Amino acid sequence: MTDITCKLLVIGAGPGGYVCAIRAGQLGIDTVIVESSKLGGTCLNIGCIPSKAMIHVAEEFEKAAHAAAGKTPFGLTTAEPKLDLKQAVAWKDGIVQRLNNGVAGLLRKAKVKIVHGQARFRDGKTVAVETETGPKTITAETIVIATGSVPVELPFLPFGGNVISSTGALALTELPKRLVVVGGGYIGLELGTAFAKLGAKVTVVEAQEKILPLYDAELTAPVAKSLSALGVEVLLGAKALGPTAKGDGLRIETADGKERELPADKILVTVGRAPATSKLGLDELVLDMDGRFIRIGERCETSMRGIHAIGDVTGEPMLAHRAMAQGEMVAEIVAGEPRIWDKACIPAICFTDPEIVSAGLSPAEAKAAGFETKIGLFPFQANGRAMTRHGEAGFVRIVARADNHLVLGIQAVGQGVSELSAAFGLAIEMGARLEDVAGTIHAHPTLGEAFQESALKALGHALHI
Ligand code: FAD
Ligand code: NAD
Repeated sequence: MTDITCKLLVIGAGPGGYVCAIRAGQLGIDTVIVESSKLGGTCLNIGCIPSKAMIHVAEEFEKAAHAAAGKTPFGLTTAEPKLDLKQAVAWKDGIVQRLNNGVAGLLRKAKVKIVHGQARFRDGKTVAVETETGPKTITAETIVIATGSVPVELPFLPFGGNVISSTGALALTELPKRLVVVGGGYIGLELGTAFAKLGAKVTVVEAQEKILPLYDAELTAPVAKSLSALGVEVLLGAKALGPTAKGDGLRIETADGKERELPADKILVTVGRAPATSKLGLDELVLDMDGRFIRIGERCETSMRGIHAIGDVTGEPMLAHRAMAQGEMVAEIVAGEPRIWDKACIPAICFTDPEIVSAGLSPAEAKAAGFETKIGLFPFQANGRAMTRHGEAGFVRIVARADNHLVLGIQAVGQGVSELSAAFGLAIEMGARLEDVAGTIHAHPTLGEAFQESALKALGHALHI
């Protein structure tokens, strides 16, 4: 048994954990990070990065297929495209590998000690790690739990065989002809759209009455329209019941209470994610929980002194950039800095086609919070850059206080709007008023002009509509 003593122990090297460890190392804190799988966590290995790589492949394939079918309005034609999915997956894996190496390099540069193995609490200060070279005991003054999340498994549709999680979907080297997706949320629609573009017949089974229940109907309408144009069948208010008797599809109950069988080569289950705590030995601690997630306060402190928790293990929103911001903050708190969670917003993006961005409050959320609002919506149909990119669906919408014009929220749906999220987040974080956005010169021709115009519209004098 080897013993290690350190000031800070971080469990889990996803975006939350590795950022926390790097920042702690920069601040001169003697830091150890334990990872049972690969550096970079869900996001880098089986989440954000590989999914965006495969979405890109699908977009490029669809563009080429459109050109081959003579469907471009500007006269481009090409030969019928062919995709070697094995090569695409290998390309995606190469990107992941480069980023893995990058994280390892950054941790080394910050003088963080990396231990590979599964960590299990012995008590509030001590963790046992099973490593390839035998057991290690690590004792630390402060411990950060950053163990992330795992896909939720439906008891009547366990993973295995034809039933896959997002991890399995991102590793497929053969295109399923018929893909049934259970859950029309973030993952189901991002990956469902990608597989439909690659040529699979995709059916989405969503339990609620709308897709992407987190976003309002005005934002999701262009996505629903595009799914229909792609030939994706979306069954709302439908319940998955289990595999068909022959195992060649999914039995569901449709909204009108009837049973239906959906033939499927693969069934992708994306019904949310649960905290990764099962092997952590939480029974040895007395932590307050929030359902299955670990409850935290404004400094990501848990109910036990000296133990913090960050990222997906603490619940929604389960987003990489939230985990990173929490990780950075906790490292600075451990270094004695007076930090607290005071972010004005956590922008969220859904990488569907078109993309959706939301930062701050939606019109309904602002109303529910008691604000009288001014709302400006500017459609991409009136934006030159959107027209020249042949991506006119969607809009930018701004929500501000009616009395002092403080911007409360900004949302957009449209091709390429993910890159506007930085401007939206900055405006809200800096306490911008409608006049600040309207009075900032936005370069022409860009999608960003629709942001400026939405503010002008809310002030009652949009120029291009
Ligand atoms: P994780 O990234 O889950 O990392 C936790 C790490 O802890 C893992 O590496 C795990 O192996 C390790 N671990 C767990 N238990 C132990 C233990 N006992 N001992 C040692 N190590 C342990 N978010 C976005 O913001 N944008 C996106 O575009 C996006 N796309 C996504 C696409 C998919 C398909 C998926 C599945 C998720 C996506 N997410 C996205 C969510 C994002 O991946 C997570 O929010 C993020 O990874 C959370 O970071 P984390 O550090 O909390 O946990
Ligand atoms: P999700 O919460 O986004 O969507 C799950 C969907 O499944 C919901 O619409 C829900 O109503 C539906 N559902 C639940 N049980 C069902 C059932 N039995 N039958 C049919 N439908 C059912 O979850 P997800 O798509 O699994 O993603 C998990 C998390 O990962 C998200 O919360 C998100 O934070 C993160 N993520 C983020 C991004 C991004 O930022 N672009 C991308 C992917 C994942």
